[in-house]
Amino acid sequence: MYRLDDLNPVQRQAVEHRDGPLLILAGAGSGKTRVLTYRIAHLIAQGIDPWNILAITFTNKAAQEMRERVGTLVGSEGRGLWVATFHSACVRILRSEIEHLPGYSRSFVIYDSSDQQAVIKSCMKELNLDEKKFAPRAIGGVISDAKNKLQSPEEFSQRAADYFEQKVEKVYELYQKRLKGNNALDFDDIIMLTVRLFRENPEVLAYYQEKFRYILVDEYQDTNHAQYALVNLLAKKYRNLCVVGDDDQSIYMFRGADVQNILDFERDYPEAKVLKLEQNYRSTKHILDAANSVVSNNTERKEKSLWTENEEGNPLVYYVAENEHDESRYIAERIQRLRDVEGRKFNDFAILYRTNAQSRVIEERFMKQGVPYRIFSGLKFYERMEIKDMLAYLRILHNPSDQVAFSRILNVPKRGLGNSTLEKIIEYTEEQGMPVLDAIMEADYIPDLTTRAKKPLLAFADLMQELKQLALEESSVTHLVEEVLKRTGYWEQLKTDKSPEAEARLENLREFLSVTAEYDEKALDQDENLPEGEEDEEYFTPGLAGFLEQVSLVAEIDALDPAEESVALMTIHSAKGLEFPVVFLVGMEEGIFPSSRSMMDPTLLAEERRLCYVAITRARERLYLSYADQRMLYGRTQYNRPSEFMEEIPPQLMVDRDPIDPPPTRMKKPQPQTGMGNRNFGGRSSWGTWDKEIGNPVKEPGTFDYHVGEKVEHAKFGKGIIVAIKGEGSQAEISIVFGGQIKKLIAEYAKLTKI
Ligand code: ATP
Ligand code: MG
Repeated sequence: MYRLDDLNPVQRQAVEHRDGPLLILAGAGSGKTRVLTYRIAHLIAQGIDPWNILAITFTNKAAQEMRERVGTLVGSEGRGLWVATFHSACVRILRSEIEHLPGYSRSFVIYDSSDQQAVIKSCMKELNLDEKKFAPRAIGGVISDAKNKLQSPEEFSQRAADYFEQKVEKVYELYQKRLKGNNALDFDDIIMLTVRLFRENPEVLAYYQEKFRYILVDEYQDTNHAQYALVNLLAKKYRNLCVVGDDDQSIYMFRGADVQNILDFERDYPEAKVLKLEQNYRSTKHILDAANSVVSNNTERKEKSLWTENEEGNPLVYYVAENEHDESRYIAERIQRLRDVEGRKFNDFAILYRTNAQSRVIEERFMKQGVPYRIFSGLKFYERMEIKDMLAYLRILHNPSDQVAFSRILNVPKRGLGNSTLEKIIEYTEEQGMPVLDAIMEADYIPDLTTRAKKPLLAFADLMQELKQLALEESSVTHLVEEVLKRTGYWEQLKTDKSPEAEARLENLREFLSVTAEYDEKALDQDENLPEGEEDEEYFTPGLAGFLEQVSLVAEIDALDPAEESVALMTIHSAKGLEFPVVFLVGMEEGIFPSSRSMMDPTLLAEERRLCYVAITRARERLYLSYADQRMLYGRTQYNRPSEFMEEIPPQLMVDRDPIDPPPTRMKKPQPQTGMGNRNFGGRSSWGTWDKEIGNPVKEPGTFDYHVGEKVEHAKFGKGIIVAIKGEGSQAEISIVFGGQIKKLIAEYAKLTKI
């Protein structure tokens, strides 16, 4: 049960407000998300059918948390409620309605950014546009921007002003044709097409307006124009729209978010009730003062007074590191210390950085010291080659028109079917207007195909037909993947290749099979537990279609068992809405944070400052800020000045000696040294694996001949059993189960004793 007594008077007013538009514009940690959650519970308690409620959050993780929270507040009463991100809500709508849009079918697939790039590049090739002159990424960015503004290729062409935009216009047109031909949507299409669907089909819109009588949107300050249009279409009839947000936390301008959407709410809904929450429940006074002080340097903002009854707390602690290694050493050491002195758990800590590349060194250090950690950073696992290969197989089996998937796997594993064969196939497919998987059945008729290519192509075509049949009959995605791996020879090829890379790939594929197994289990559960005809609160499409959908929408995947305690590593962007007892904000240097791009541009700089406000306000009790005199990033050594944001924090709030340490008895830290050698920050891993090319740890003589099944003892984690070994010798990554928890350790640093 939920209790209105858990809310302050203004929060309570927001929760009890029943009909009509409601705006809550309030600072960080003031309970906006909590109000939204309680409001849903309250509406349901008041007899509103959960089926009539739509709540939109910014990430899948937030949606899941909110669903759970509502679940604990109202129990099974919440059935039928939609808590979703913009994308997942729209996909769900499109899955049942897209056929109202001519030329689209419900079995559509979703292209991620790298698929998108592949299509853009092929369009550019066809249009004879030189990739050196026109960066495909830049073109992709302009197309995405147009879609976020709901501009179709025709509309875009009317505004295309300069030479570059005229080129983009051609690419956009062809790109959109290609996507449609492949029965594919990119991320921006998901929203744009839903808006189009509603605008062109009033009866469909009417149905959803009737369904979603109550709409709630979290983080409204980060909606873009397309999302704004969508919300307003849906809310038009009943006008029961509740939006919450904070203009000071608008941090997605670079992706088309428009803070004006929240600022104009009262114009859009003149009858709106507007509430301001001013009490912060999250942070200590010191932390809140620091945040307020930084953000007050932004001139164009709505003045807010945010206060707290929480205690003053500890001063913020800053650390001047010699370099990035020293910075990560400091963090690992502080974590250890806080665990020892205050009994903190690994879950209490978050490390926040401006760019993903900064995590590598921290990961390295944590790995060495056995600090368990998780990385929240999007689709990294699914970006790996072997995973993308497997997904391409699944996609083409699901949607035989998907040329991008087809191009990816035609010669994977190698079948002697090269690029020129591929081009001929695609040409033939386009001419015949048939799905590419069917086209290759007619290999004999494809013009100019060499005899040498025909035989393997026909064999491949047959194989794919068999697999397609299997995909239709088989309900277990896991079994399907196993068959694909086996029958295509993919698994065998990796098996015979004894290189460590191949081994890592096999490992990832095993992990992939555990993802599918989890999905299959969920599907089975769903089948068994769901009463006939009833819709479950958690949206779920069974089978291959649903699996592919889940994969394309997933924004964060936790590599480790969530039960395992671990430190969270993430960019500040992905920390939005979250809170942690202890936060380390690293890389507080000019050129990093604020980013070098923003230093010359006041608008961008203001956005960086809001980002800093977001970062600081994630902390509940302790905040550490660090910068390095010298840093190697992207393979270059930089000597950066401390971030200007550091200077915007009142000096009396910050100390350089952590009060949890005993008074100093030794000399001050030596001055910075230079010369850290060459490092390479390419390809980071989101799964806590150790990249052996990076870091050059000192090799010491010693034997590291461990094997799977062996029992060992670790100084900190105690006794365990080895369950996997990746690589060999001193650098082998050993996975060990200690009391039900898996840790991955590097042989050299783990200092294991055999028992
Ligand atoms: P952000 O702007 O970062 O998204 P928010 O405004 O959404 O923050 P919440 O995350 O809802 O804030 O709340 C911040 C913290 O304060 C949470 O731990 C929440 O449980 C707590 N909190 C909010 N309101 C109250 C209250 N009335 N009494 C006690 N705790 C509260
Ligand atoms: Mg929130």
